[in-house]
Amino acid sequence: MLEIKNLHVKLEEEDKQILKGVNLTVEAGKVHAIMGPNGSGKSTLSYVLSGRDGYEVTDGGATLEGEDLLEMEPEERAAAGLFLAFQYPVEIPGVGNMTFLRTALNAQRKARGEEEVSAGEFLKLVREKAKTLKIDAEMLKRPVNVGFSGGEKKRNEILQMAVLEPRMCVLDETDSGLDVDAMKLVSDGVNALRDAGRSFLVITHYQRLLDHIKPDVVHIMADGRIVKTGGPELALEVEKNGYADILAEMA
Ligand code: ADP
Ligand code: MG
Ligand code: MG
Repeated sequence: MLEIKNLHVKLEEEDKQILKGVNLTVEAGKVHAIMGPNGSGKSTLSYVLSGRDGYEVTDGGATLEGEDLLEMEPEERAAAGLFLAFQYPVEIPGVGNMTFLRTALNAQRKARGEEEVSAGEFLKLVREKAKTLKIDAEMLKRPVNVGFSGGEKKRNEILQMAVLEPRMCVLDETDSGLDVDAMKLVSDGVNALRDAGRSFLVITHYQRLLDHIKPDVVHIMADGRIVKTGGPELALEVEKNGYADILAEMA
């Protein structure tokens, strides 16, 4: 599904190398987790996958279902089935949540040469998804993320994901700032979307999210590289001993 090979990324503005050769293959239907100390480059990896400005790929690359991801515009990436939920979801004053969702869904359909959803169909779809995520109608009418609590923003991103039905979902620290109940809701939302044709890359600082979203593979990232890969037990090891042991073992 997603293949990242020897990815090297530096900041455009500064001579600072952040990713120093990331190799990662996420197979269809699998959930991979990336853990790692602060500043190791986890968010940078998700930004580069999304096509955010300010980064320069100096070597290596990334493909989504065999297509060169880094050559695509951000909208093309979304149409190709990539979805990213960020650590800090953006607020869009003046744009209602429903309007935003419908525009995003129709843009994706158009790029794929599919028909737009009718207003009625869309309303039915969103109401159904919102209900399972315990998002109330009021929140659907408000401007995107404006004045939403941390937990509401995260839930709203899972709603976007549920509506857009991407094939490759990247979640960057979707757990940060969530209380236990909100984390459970978000995890349930993700788990409900798990499917043989859909993959997830879950970036998290803490093991506790992985109690709810059980990963198939866990990677540890440090200083711009994946330094260790294992099963779910690797996350438990980090929880128990921190990163120091793993990093010392690598050195
Ligand atoms: P993580 O998500 O693992 O905590 P980040 O990807 O946010 O790590 O950051 C990796 C490193 O790159 C850090 O040292 C961070 O300070 C640096 N960095 C990222 N973006 C910028 C930027 N725009 N300007 C300066 N430094 C940056
Ligand atoms: Mg960080
Ligand atoms: Mg980060």
